[in-house]
Amino acid sequence: MGARRGNEDDTIVIRRISAKPVGRRSVLHAGLGGAATLLLAAGFGAFWWEGRAKPMPIGTATETEIDQTQPCTNIVTYLAPDKSVVVIDFPSLEAQGLALDRVAAFVEKASVPHNRVLDDAALNAAIAASGDTVASYYYGHDYQAADLARFFALAQSESIKLNPQELWLKRLLRQLGWLVPGANGAIITLPAAGGDVPPEMRAVILRHEISHGAFYTVPKYRHYVEQFWASLTPDDRAAFTGFLGRQGYDTSLTELMLNETQAYLIFTRDPRFFNAGAIGKTDAEISQLREGFIANMPNFWLTPLASSPLPTVPVAMPACPQKQAMLITGKRLCLCYRTGGLASA
Ligand SMILES: [Zn+2]
Repeated sequence: MGARRGNEDDTIVIRRISAKPVGRRSVLHAGLGGAATLLLAAGFGAFWWEGRAKPMPIGTATETEIDQTQPCTNIVTYLAPDKSVVVIDFPSLEAQGLALDRVAAFVEKASVPHNRVLDDAALNAAIAASGDTVASYYYGHDYQAADLARFFALAQSESIKLNPQELWLKRLLRQLGWLVPGANGAIITLPAAGGDVPPEMRAVILRHEISHGAFYTVPKYRHYVEQFWASLTPDDRAAFTGFLGRQGYDTSLTELMLNETQAYLIFTRDPRFFNAGAIGKTDAEISQLREGFIANMPNFWLTPLASSPLPTVPVAMPACPQKQAMLITGKRLCLCYRTGGLASA
């Protein structure tokens, strides 16, 4: 999901957030062993963190549960209504960018090659040339398993040095079984609240990314979106393509254009990210396009999200102490703060 840019539409510009991770007020889950575990982890610190070879714990969470929690570190969950969609909740935009900006360039960013993997120097140059930073290159990401497998295979064959966050992602994908040909799945990601991302913006980003998850994993939905795109007038397609080009997407990739069109038009009801003016249309015209899309949409788990409001979220997300952040290692359900206490899924 693109960061907002300064351009002719009147959506706002969101640039850089504080590099300092912000998290929730963590509550130590009794099952983790309380103070003893905390002391142990504090003592062994980085060694324990880096040297850990056990499979990553992957819980299951609904959209609402994700919106209402705040990650202190990378948290991985299966999306409850469709477990082939895996959600990675990053503790900051910076952490998200380090793990995924190189993938973004490879899969879908404009003005960079898609047949080879960029090294650090080329990636940094591409990010700078787009007017962005590691943190702001995208606000949320989404990739299908096949593209991720292609990325890591090419990176290896080209001997590209990957950073620790990317190696973490590769380990996750191997665990999911997605680095082999024919795997069906998608990752979608969002950053913790903090800096330029207030809690309700997390919900906006997640809803947008969930629609991409469905596009990748539900063939009848992908087919429907392709039909919708084909049914648009050339002018309408050009309007969406122009908007997406200004967001930094490679407009030569038709599948990307139509996938992003469904995500922005139907599932991003926040004028800071998308509005009628951004594609040179009136509100009435946008409403008509939305109604047409929703009226004929196949009926499956995504369908209600096309017209339902976003889940309510806390006005502010409490900060997460650094020491406790080391403990949670992907367990959304252990140390994550929730309004109303901890829940298990
Ligand atoms: Zn998107």
